[in-house]
This record gives sequence, structure tokens and C-alpha cells, in this order.
Amino acid sequence: MAELIDRFGRKVTYLRISITDRCDLRCQYCMAEEMTFLPRAQILTLEEIHTLARVFVDLGVRKIRVTGGEPLVRRGAVELVENLGGLPLDELVMTTNGTRLRDHAARLAAAGVRRINISLDSLKPERFRRLTRVGVLQPVLAGIDAAVKAGFERIKLNTVVMKGFNHDEVVDLARFAVDKGLDISFIEEMPLGEIGGHDRLESFYSSDRVREDLDRVFDLRAVSHRTGGPSRYWQVAGTCTRIGFISPHSHNFCADCNRVRLTVEGRLLLCLGNEHSVDLKRVLRRWPGDEDRLRKTIVEAMAIKPERHHFDLREQPVILRHMSVTGG
Ligand code: SAM
Ligand code: SF4
Repeated sequence: MAELIDRFGRKVTYLRISITDRCDLRCQYCMAEEMTFLPRAQILTLEEIHTLARVFVDLGVRKIRVTGGEPLVRRGAVELVENLGGLPLDELVMTTNGTRLRDHAARLAAAGVRRINISLDSLKPERFRRLTRVGVLQPVLAGIDAAVKAGFERIKLNTVVMKGFNHDEVVDLARFAVDKGLDISFIEEMPLGEIGGHDRLESFYSSDRVREDLDRVFDLRAVSHRTGGPSRYWQVAGTCTRIGFISPHSHNFCADCNRVRLTVEGRLLLCLGNEHSVDLKRVLRRWPGDEDRLRKTIVEAMAIKPERHHFDLREQPVILRHMSVTGG
């Protein structure tokens, strides 16, 4: 059976799919205030996404993450997840901002989603609004409670930490996670897309500093657990909560990279920090039904997967696409 192996011997078993570039929030680190979204004809249909997912699974992918933009704002997102749940995967997961989770959590869990990541950058309503520009905190908290009730195996909060915005809340967010029995990852902001509003170098707050802040309050024990992602995990002693750190700046995570991304326009993106990509939508639409050609294109794409990213906060973003197009 064909496998996806790149020039550096890394086996690709994890596909992240951005199913929409749209979102009901405008997080400061992710989007500009005014965004132009892609016209419908330019984005993959849900059927095309399912076809591509099936072909990737044929090629050895065992984990799929559905993300965006905000995946739950796309009509038919839950049905897509239900269909993906029928593929022979080890893991089907989703990243969401939680605003619509209250209505969908139970169905997602029933569809086979075992783990879900929910973004939460502040527990203060005013600050939450400032960080997301338009967001209301309460529905997100209700979404988190609905997820707990729905019985996902693990729920992880994702917090992008920014100096001057929310760096002073890391302990409160960790405590919130502990109280609810959730995991939490603290993320360093990545220079993806023009966002306006703040200087990413000035607001940089390293994972090491977050760790120091947490160490003053919690007893953190190293765990060997890896999710196949860039997070390194610590367990809060005496609780089931794991705390992760995603540190693209202070700790490069490329050597173990096992993932590729499918953008909302159907480009296969080989690395988050580089522009190397292959247009799978073109293949799908030009040769409908020709899955052999699709498979061959994907296998050949492995040859251009870069060794590593080169993020540099002192420079203008070299990656102009936003995380929402790429799938965070
Ligand atoms: N809308 C969903 C959400 O917010 O969870 C899914 C998509 S979002 C792009 C996925 C993740 O990327 C979120 O956890 C978000 O915090 C993170 N993210 C977005 N832009 C980022 C950036 N510039 N640097 C680091 N993380 C970022
Ligand atoms: Fe939307 Fe997620 Fe980006 Fe925030 S991080 S603007 S919720 S896509």
C-alpha cells in the first residue's frame, strides 16, 4: 500500500482540513478587522472534502482534524463530520472557537469525535471581546459545558498568550481547566497573515515564561504522552489535567512533523511556515473521478515538504495567508 513519506523520512499520518475561511470572531492574532472571504466557487464543496479525506486515508492517514476558520459556521459541517466518522481513522478531532458548540457538541461526539479543542483566551468578558474584537464569552463557556456533558474523551483548551492582552491570566485559565477536568495548551503567536492592530514582537510572551508563571502555583510533572502534535505536556499533580506548550519560536517542533494541511481552497499545504503547496482542487475538478491521479499527486507532493519553518517575529510576516485559510 502506498504511504506518504517525505524526503526526511517523516511519515505523514495526520491531515488537518480547513473547511471554511469564515468565522464569527476576529481574534487579534488571527484575522484583520476587515476580512474578505473567498467566494463559494473557490472553496472545496463538502463532497470534495470527503473524497480527498477518503483518498488520504487510503494513503495511510490515521488522524483528521476538522478546523477553519470556524468549522461550525459552515452549513453541513456536522454532516461532514458524521461522514468522516465512517472512515477507518484512529482519531477524528475538531478545533472550534466554541461559540456554537452548545448546539452541536452531542452530535459531534456521537459522530465519533473523541477529542475536541476549544479556543479560549480569556475568562473576562470585556477582555474576551477585545481579543476577539466581536465575541461574547458566555456562549463559549456554555459550549465548553456542553462538550463536557457530551462525553468527549478529552477536551483541550487552546490559549494564544500575548503580552499586554492576556499573559496575566495563564494561571486563572489553567485553574479553570483543572476545575473542569480539561487539558490546556498555551500557544506562542505565529506570524501568519497581516492582522493589523498589534506588533507581534512586542506582544510575544514565551512558553518558558508561561511555564515560570504556572510553576509558582502548580506542581507540574513531565509526561511522556504525545498526541502526534507539537505540544509538550505536563500533568498537574493530583489532577487529570495536562498542560501543553506549543512553542514554534522558542522550541522548534519540525523534526517530528507528521502532518499536512488541506486549505479551504483545496491546496495541499506541506508546512504551516512555508508556501510549498499543491493544488488538489484543480486535479479534482479537471479529472473528476480519477482517484489514481489524485493519489499520485498527493504521493508526489511529499517531495516538496520542507524540512522546517523559519518564523521570525522581527520581520514582516512572510506567510501572508491567515491561519483561518490554512486550518490552525
Ligand atoms: N476557529 C477555530 C478556533 O479558533 O479554535 C479553529 C481555527 S483557529 C485558526 C485554530 C487555532 O489556531 C486556534 O486555537 C487559534 O488560537 C490558533 N491561531 C490562530 N492564529 C494564530 C496565530 N497567528 N498564532 C498562533 N495560533 C493561532
Ligand atoms: Fe476565528 Fe479561530 Fe481565527 Fe479566532 S482563531 S478568528 S475563532 S478562526
